[in-house]
Amino acid sequence: MKLLPIVALLAAAATAQAQDAGTVINGIYPQLDAIYKDLHANPEIAFQETRTAGKLAAEMRKIGFEVTEKVGKTGVVAIYKNGPGPLVMVRTELDGLPMDEKSGLPYASKNGAAHSCGHDVHMTAWLGAARALVTLKSQWQGTLMFIGQPAEETVAGAKAMLEDGLFKRFGKPDYAFALHSWPLAYGTIGYNSGPVSSNSDAIEITFKGRGGHGSAPDKALDPITIAARFVVDVQTVISREKDPKEFGVVTIGAINGGTVGNIIPDTVKVRGTIRSYSPAVREKILAGVRRIANASATMADAPAPDVELIPGGAAIDNNDALVTRTEGVLKQAFGDANVARMPAMTASEDFSQYVNQGVPGMFFFTGVYDPKVVAEADKGGKPVAFNHSPYYAPVPEPSIKTAAQAMTLAVMNVMPK
Ligand SMILES: [Zn+2]
Ligand SMILES: [Zn+2]
Repeated sequence: MKLLPIVALLAAAATAQAQDAGTVINGIYPQLDAIYKDLHANPEIAFQETRTAGKLAAEMRKIGFEVTEKVGKTGVVAIYKNGPGPLVMVRTELDGLPMDEKSGLPYASKNGAAHSCGHDVHMTAWLGAARALVTLKSQWQGTLMFIGQPAEETVAGAKAMLEDGLFKRFGKPDYAFALHSWPLAYGTIGYNSGPVSSNSDAIEITFKGRGGHGSAPDKALDPITIAARFVVDVQTVISREKDPKEFGVVTIGAINGGTVGNIIPDTVKVRGTIRSYSPAVREKILAGVRRIANASATMADAPAPDVELIPGGAAIDNNDALVTRTEGVLKQAFGDANVARMPAMTASEDFSQYVNQGVPGMFFFTGVYDPKVVAEADKGGKPVAFNHSPYYAPVPEPSIKTAAQAMTLAVMNVMPK
């Protein structure tokens, strides 16, 4: 019972911090909005984010951070020291995707790349949180390590930054946070303990045959039928071998072989992706894909195919204690109804690389669409555009405000005075 007044005091302090963070972010929102629209209109793809990195570096210097550029090719590291205390990392991604945007927004990209994963939302929220934290520096202590990571979409940027000595040069963080825009209602936040993203492995298979005339298949060895058999049969790894209660996906996204209808080609290239959460399921799928590729060739008496299964991102494992600790302040600030646990996403993310170095991390999602539009979609109405859709079009305000405020509060909460 004696604890009650302390709990009440802490709750009051958390509410005051939420109000302060909200006030700062509302005050700077016009600048954030301009930055967002500029980033959105000028996306750059993996490891080519030089303009983007330069812009973020300049903004962070203005706020008072000590900035190092070109960490892991195009990455940015911004440090702000504010007395003794934990080192807390906040990560944003810098890259857009190599695709045309079709959102029709007045600030849509026209350069052949698109921020259709919302990394521009994350960068803007990252800047907003940095500004809010520095403004409110009397309320926390420790060191901020804000990183702008290149090449998230190719799952190569986190690795590049770590290999360039991120944790050796700037210190290994005590906590790490990242957020991701998601097609939820704006003003809402989703997260989970344990896995929040998937393991990802790429499939690159070349089936080998012997080219010939389409009218004389007996004189040739047809790699198209071998590839076709593989594409169908490989799904039995998911439907017949994997535990149906466990998550696992195999998708073949590209088949390339042949030129015209009457020529049997020499080879067919098949590319795909494998997703899973647990290491055991991952191993089972990898083995199954390899076995079925080989067996498909054997059935045609063809040479063994070249099978490359290339590891991509590992699943992000959110730290349970950190999630529980952060959940409290987010609920205080945004209300129980707007802050909820959600199932893990099936996509992959290389934020896991930092977490797998032994850094307790939390990766959470923030909504970007009008709640009415999301509710309609949930009822079977017009679906909302998902991340990586050419129509992905976050509503900047209040999506960016919520994201910036949530990140500010999550960080302050682990850096108490
Ligand atoms: Zn993406
Ligand atoms: Zn993304």
